[in-house]
Amino acid sequence: MLSRLLIAYYQTSWFLNFSVVQLPNLCVEVEELIESTPKLTGNRIVDVSFFIEQIRKLALHDQTCTMGKMNFSGENKKGLVASFIYNCKVCNRKMEIKTQNCDNDLNQSFVWGVSSIGSGYKQSEELLSVINVPAMTKNVC
Ligand SMILES: [Zn+2]
Repeated sequence: MLSRLLIAYYQTSWFLNFSVVQLPNLCVEVEELIESTPKLTGNRIVDVSFFIEQIRKLALHDQTCTMGKMNFSGENKKGLVASFIYNCKVCNRKMEIKTQNCDNDLNQSFVWGVSSIGSGYKQSEELLSVINVPAMTKNVC
């Protein structure tokens, strides 16, 4: 029994010595996997009840998709109306969460409101900047 242990010890130590001495140094390149998840900054003007209904769609997906979770992948803006794009890597489903209902024309209302108080594009741009809402471009269709 003792001889078997000694043989096993010598074989192990020989293997360890061999593995340390005989093998060349390995050059290992480590590549960090950096997922570039876009970050949302600032504020948006949101139709609260509509937006909550949109968020429920995300929650419903997370409950029904096996091992899947919606991840934020980007934002589209059309004037003051924003759409947040979410993707699931498991089922490849894509969702667009909007801040306003399509029928609710926030952009047109905002322009009418700014015009009614005697302001123009530059003043509206300044106003949106102060409340940290991304400015709308001059040409929103
Ligand atoms: Zn999914």
